[in-house]
Amino acid sequence: MSLPVTTTLTRTPKTKPPLDEQLGFGKFFTDHLYAADYSADGGWKNARIQPYGPLALDPAAGVFHYGQAMFEGSKAFHHVDGGTVLFRPHMHAKRLNASAPRLCMPTFPEEDFVAACKALVKADLAWVPTKEATALYLRPTLIATEGFLGVRPANDYLFFIIASPVASYYGKGLKPVRIWVETEHVRAPRGGLGAAKAGANYAASLAAAMRAKKDGYDQVLWLDGRDHELVEEVGTMNLFVVLGNSLVTPPLSDSILAGVTRDSVLTLAKDKGLTIEERPISMTELLAANKAGTLKEVLGTGTAAVISPVGELTTRTQKLVINGGQPGPVGLDLYETITGIQRGTKPDKFGWLERV
Ligand SMILES: *Cc1c(COP(=O)(O)O)cnc(C)c1O
Repeated sequence: MSLPVTTTLTRTPKTKPPLDEQLGFGKFFTDHLYAADYSADGGWKNARIQPYGPLALDPAAGVFHYGQAMFEGSKAFHHVDGGTVLFRPHMHAKRLNASAPRLCMPTFPEEDFVAACKALVKADLAWVPTKEATALYLRPTLIATEGFLGVRPANDYLFFIIASPVASYYGKGLKPVRIWVETEHVRAPRGGLGAAKAGANYAASLAAAMRAKKDGYDQVLWLDGRDHELVEEVGTMNLFVVLGNSLVTPPLSDSILAGVTRDSVLTLAKDKGLTIEERPISMTELLAANKAGTLKEVLGTGTAAVISPVGELTTRTQKLVINGGQPGPVGLDLYETITGIQRGTKPDKFGWLERV
């Protein structure tokens, strides 16, 4: 049985920014949000579309003290046929629900999750940018709202979705990033929250990212938390490496997030006949491959940037320039294919688009 949704539309719509390539990322928010309340005894109820605005929360709410907070990030696209589509929304719902128990949080029914995304996009349809390399970014979020300071999982939760019109991370084309190989801080240890899209993982990552930025890098390469030897993720993206003729990515574990883009890349690469390996990759192997000339491309994958080529990888002792600092053919092709499917200029062979 699906959750009934009530709709209260705003009487004071905002002035929209130009919905073009200058949108940046996450700077503007639409006129509405979706929200639903959970209580341990009553389950999910009170699903609603309401005007976008501040939330009133008890200062003792669990989210503020013990960090019970998770989120998703997905996109709605203007399709070339004039419609609007979501990209793999069921996968985002499944991921939220797969990791909610790790934070002792309730799951949100998958069908209601997808219906909620559609309802919000419909309410704010005029905010979906239509230009190439733009999208309406959706941020489903789950937080503990019960006001109680005893240390235990909260009984009350809020699930909400906000929406932000965004432009491509890099404007037109792909701009390779410069990456610092981080050997001090750890994003997620074995046994930690790394497989959940928990706000806490982001809190853990900010200091190293800021330090890297100050030193002139765009982001950091995260290594495993025990030996600082296996490569895990790059910034807030999954990592792929083109080694010789293989596309290699670390296997999913409890310190690696199961990216929807990662899954899409693996599916497309298989379909294109590329050799794929899901296996651990060490820094030792990367440095040796670089010396031998077999390290062809390093890629980050995620919803925001889709594919982010790494142009430079810098460790404490050496700087690796990847593919002459230019985007490589594998990354470019995957980027064109995924963004083509999203816009409708390439066939949606795998049924990834869901109409709003
Ligand atoms: C969100 C995220 C990704 C990318 O996931 P997508 O579903 O592809 O957007 C990768 N790594 C981390 C740590 C993330 O938080």
